[in-house]
Amino acid sequence: MDLGLKDKVIIVTGGAKGIGEAISKLVAAEGAIAVIAGRSAVDNEKTIAAIKAAGGKAFGIEAELGDPAACKKVIDATVKEFGTLHALVNNAGVNDGVGLESGNPEKFMASLQKNVSHYYNLAHYALPYLKQNKGSIVNIGSKVATTGQGNTSGYAASKGAINALTREWAVELLPFSIRVNTVIPAEVWTPLYETWISSLPNPKEKLASIVAKIPLEQRMTTSEEIAGMTVFLLSPQSSHTTGQIIYVDGGYTHLDRSI
Ligand code: NAP
Repeated sequence: MDLGLKDKVIIVTGGAKGIGEAISKLVAAEGAIAVIAGRSAVDNEKTIAAIKAAGGKAFGIEAELGDPAACKKVIDATVKEFGTLHALVNNAGVNDGVGLESGNPEKFMASLQKNVSHYYNLAHYALPYLKQNKGSIVNIGSKVATTGQGNTSGYAASKGAINALTREWAVELLPFSIRVNTVIPAEVWTPLYETWISSLPNPKEKLASIVAKIPLEQRMTTSEEIAGMTVFLLSPQSSHTTGQIIYVDGGYTHLDRSI
């Protein structure tokens, strides 16, 4: 299947590591230009080099996305370099453990800033260009929005907001044929996941107990499996799909607990 993404300019936030890295690599493998927006120029360059070595096109923008001005810079720098923008993948986020008891009002607001504000800010600044191209937005959410996790109020509130914004933006952007969808991972081995599991008591046992409960094949989802759905949703092959929240999780969130 030709996904029709050749030469499309696609921003991937946090596109240098983990799920974002897999998305950047897959969009580039489909002939698109992966614009990697992340806080570390060194990490960005590493992934760009791998994409280029595989014959793909990529460009990096160093940005701490919690800063609204940096979000504007990401869009401006992309358009300056390529003259246009076709799609946005809002992916960067961190499960930062700001709980009801362990956190405080300042930490809670800072968590929203890290996890959801830049989803809005980037979509806002990208909008004029997405309108020109009947573009597409894919957000990466989390199962936490549906299941809760405990001790992560800021992250959970952000991911809940991302689900709501998916439907809200899908409606607002109907007149421009801009599609908005969200992909929900549950358990994907990435640098973020490794940090999170290591923060728990008995991480090895905890990991084994989680993996045993993943219905499909009792294994974690790969970053590439998240990327596959994301890139399909970016592409014109999904041209009548909008406002959807799609769980790529081996059935972890929804299937019967008794299986
Ligand atoms: P990851 O391994 O930490 O990779 C995320 C990348 O984004 C890193 O390069 C990180 O930089 C960068 N980043 C994060 N926040 C940023 C910011 N404010 N400004 C600039 N760059 C930023 O994370 P991941 O596991 O791939 O997660 C990607 C997305 O999937 C997140 O939205 C996460 O909530 C969601 N998710 C993941 C899982 C999972 O099982 N892994 C489950 C549910 C949802 P640093 O390395 O410098 O932090």
